[in-house]
Amino acid sequence: MSASLDSGRQLPPQTTLRHRLAELRGPASVPRPLDARALAALAANPGCKRRALLDGAGVDKTALAEKLGSPSGFGQSQFAIARGNAFEAKVKADGGRELLRLLGVEEPSAVDLPDLAAAGPQGRAARTALALREATEAGRWALLDHPMLAVEVAGAPVYLEPDVVVVHPDGRWTVVEIKSFPMIDGSADAAKVGAAARQAAVYVLALGRVAAVTEGATVAHSVLLVCPKDFSNLPTASVVDVRKQLSVTRRQLARLTRLEEIADAVPQGVTFDVAECSAEQLTAAVEAVPHAYAPECLAACELAFHCRERARAADVVEALGRSVRGELGGLTTIGEVLAAARGEAGDPEDPAVAALRRAQALRTEALACR
Ligand code: SF4
Repeated sequence: MSASLDSGRQLPPQTTLRHRLAELRGPASVPRPLDARALAALAANPGCKRRALLDGAGVDKTALAEKLGSPSGFGQSQFAIARGNAFEAKVKADGGRELLRLLGVEEPSAVDLPDLAAAGPQGRAARTALALREATEAGRWALLDHPMLAVEVAGAPVYLEPDVVVVHPDGRWTVVEIKSFPMIDGSADAAKVGAAARQAAVYVLALGRVAAVTEGATVAHSVLLVCPKDFSNLPTASVVDVRKQLSVTRRQLARLTRLEEIADAVPQGVTFDVAECSAEQLTAAVEAVPHAYAPECLAACELAFHCRERARAADVVEALGRSVRGELGGLTTIGEVLAAARGEAGDPEDPAVAALRRAQALRTEALACR
């Protein structure tokens, strides 16, 4: 699809999409770049067109949620960010040797630290690809500090910045994820490790695209997770296999509806311009894009409280969670579920209805015995 200019000249599709996304964001608003954390969350809920469009347009969802009157408190505090940055600097100290020690390499002969500076994300991604190729050809240890990788998401490019990528002399590339949550007695909080693994899988996916066009390169499907040891500030590391997260992320990102299709379905004139629009206008704009709320959103998206309120108001069973939704078959509202359980509606032959009635009978029996 292409758009016409006044002169009759056609714009290429990517330019048209960029213009449309800028309109939706608000022309004066600076786009918020997508990071791997956001991409992993997007992949976890590929059916949510609202998040796909807001993230694709670079809308500041934290500011949007605040203006909608439903701030989520989601995200890291300034204190946590500063602590994380200080720990990361410590891990990368000594010309990368500390990090290689954590990888099990005691005395590397030499470690290259290529300069990855370039103009803009596209330039930095190209510089990173060149540095990876040169390091692989040289057959030496190299440590790429905050490289830039590119992936296409729903038809639009997204730039990602892992903490570190290590190039091994045999041509293997390993993603290093540095986190500030503690590893106590060799293990860390499983939920936090899971989130870090999903994030790292996005980097492995993006790195794989560069490796595919680099002779002699392979990407390790295990990442190195570096955390503070026990309650100290000393770094310790553990190898995390991300093959499962990688295949889930690959599949889910492929399922994302293309951004053009979602943007085309939004009426002209609708905008998410947080600086210019009133709360009422923004509420109407957000409602113009379908959402797919699930309780998992509470840990992954800034709009969770807003979408939860809407899902509850609509009485939909999705608000109870995806697994419950799956169990309830054709019953789509909580009102229908309650009516089926009480025997007022529903086909008794339907296994979901039969299970609800059995549960209701057991509950009545249990209450009668008290
Ligand atoms: S909170 Fe709302 S916008 Fe965010 S992923 Fe969930 S449903 Fe989508």
